[in-house]
Amino acid sequence: MKIHEYQAKEIFAAAGIPVPRGEAVCNVAEAVAVAESYGRPVMIKAQVHVGGRGKAGGVQYAENVEAVRVWAQKILGMEIKGLRVNKVLITEAADIVSETYVGIIIDRATKAPVIMVSAAGGVDIEEVAARTPEKIHKLAVDPSVGLKMYQARDLAFRLYRDIKQVRQAADIIMKLYEVYWKVDASLAEINPMITTPDSKVVAIDAKINIDDNGLFRQKEIAALRDLDAEDPAEVDAREGDLSFVNLSGNIGCIVNGAGLAMATMDLVKHYGGDPANFLDIGGSSNPQKVLTAMRIILRNPNVRAILINIFGGITRCDDVATGIVMAYEELGPEVPIVVRLTGTNEAQAIKILKKVNLESAETLDSVVKKAIELADQDSASAGRIT
Ligand code: GDP
Ligand code: MN
Repeated sequence: MKIHEYQAKEIFAAAGIPVPRGEAVCNVAEAVAVAESYGRPVMIKAQVHVGGRGKAGGVQYAENVEAVRVWAQKILGMEIKGLRVNKVLITEAADIVSETYVGIIIDRATKAPVIMVSAAGGVDIEEVAARTPEKIHKLAVDPSVGLKMYQARDLAFRLYRDIKQVRQAADIIMKLYEVYWKVDASLAEINPMITTPDSKVVAIDAKINIDDNGLFRQKEIAALRDLDAEDPAEVDAREGDLSFVNLSGNIGCIVNGAGLAMATMDLVKHYGGDPANFLDIGGSSNPQKVLTAMRIILRNPNVRAILINIFGGITRCDDVATGIVMAYEELGPEVPIVVRLTGTNEAQAIKILKKVNLESAETLDSVVKKAIELADQDSASAGRIT
């Protein structure tokens, strides 16, 4: 789960990491009021769940209240990488002498949280990582021991020469690790961490992603979820207890079991098709889940065909077939649907599917090829007068 910069900064501040004061607002009048109360130049920062806001024009400096009005007007409602900006953070503008990077992620290779620091922080950190990886220093933390001050100081020395700044940075790194650990984060990042003309080290950006598997014990964090800022399909899927990931192709996939879903997508790719999503309806066989899955997939305008692949074990094929019939009746899908149902109660399922003139394909190969063929036909005729 992602949270916004302003929320991450509240967590930082509570942990004692220095951040400039700021407030998130939803309209221009509030933006102006906050800036007026500070009586100093401010930054107007789009609160959306994507990186690179600065480069996309979503981070602006405002010298005075008039500029705040102009920029708040412009940024609120703006789209950044497909996401609408509903909130901006109004925060006191800092004078920047240098920009560094500090980030913590979970690293599957070392099975440990890894702290990364670089003196070359700021908006081009991805490029630094790609072109000059030697400028990024890493430390894997033994999670059973935790981060020790000497290690944090060692990392801080890679960032600053001035001992006062090293001390401040080491303290921030210690606290960032505490935050990372305490909130079950999968990522905690400060980019940039800056130095000011009076030699203060401050976090002027903040990013925290929470591991969804920890949310059950992170009630306060879970409440920070901003549904308006998330992909509505993924929100509905979560509520419907489906594992779902949006992809860029045109074949909607409904499968039971994550492994079978991956194998089905591999086969779609193998035969030259492109999946529109990953979707695992799970092990139960509630027809309602199929209906929800179908509703989510049909909302995606790129979808040209739907491929349903079910292996009935605990999942009963007849329940899934009932769900498909319900979806036909309630949603009246206009895209072709191909089905392969095999296993528990397969014979009953095939009977049920007859109600909507659907047949179950014999093999996985054949159903995948059929889905690709139908999707291609449909794309060829879409938008064309024939
Ligand atoms: P991001 O692009 O989404 O990562 O947004 P950031 O908050 O990191 O801001 C991007 C860039 O804008 C920073 O690297 C800074 O160069 C600049 N910036 C952000 N906040 C301030 C500020 O308070 N003062 C100044 N002078 N520049 C800022
Ligand atoms: Mn940043």
